[in-house]
Amino acid sequence: MTVDFKKYIASVQDFPNKGIVFRDITPILSDGEIFRAATHELAEYAKKRGADVIVGPEARGFIVGCPVATELGVGFVPARKPHKLPREVERASYDLEYGSNSLEMHKDAIKPGQKVVICDDLMATAGTLHAAIELIERLGGEVVGAAFYVELPDLKGREKLPNVDIFSLVQYH
Ligand code: AMP
Repeated sequence: MTVDFKKYIASVQDFPNKGIVFRDITPILSDGEIFRAATHELAEYAKKRGADVIVGPEARGFIVGCPVATELGVGFVPARKPHKLPREVERASYDLEYGSNSLEMHKDAIKPGQKVVICDDLMATAGTLHAAIELIERLGGEVVGAAFYVELPDLKGREKLPNVDIFSLVQYH
């Protein structure tokens, strides 16, 4: 099925701050056929990259990444906001298109040598992706790709991470 995913993304001016155009992917999620098609595209990409495990940053990365992991029959590892995970963690900080944040992963979440694909709803500055990669590599994993519903190429996320293979369903300039 060829889908025009842009038809299922709502653009909201000045949210959450003035000057930001928020790309709301919830219409993809609320349509079962479209959600499945988006999941399938990301899963095909992750399979091609040889993923052993999917990592999803909180919170929309959970929604996007979990069904990809189940479609492939591989594990899912959450990268969470601080103080949510109960056991020993690694932490990395990053800047957002608006604001800043940190991500944590359990120290034993990735087995050394595992091939990881990171899934999230949107890549803007790639600060989140950068932090997730830092954590995965500290745990001994190998990031073989990153997959998004939406990419904002003008924010030049790819330039920050020239060695990372990046896939996105739609781009907004
Ligand atoms: P970044 O770290 O700059 O790549 O930003 C990534 C995260 O911030 C994404 O996972 C989104 O959830 C959120 N985000 C940043 N910019 C936008 C935007 N324009 N529309 C919707 N979500 C955004």
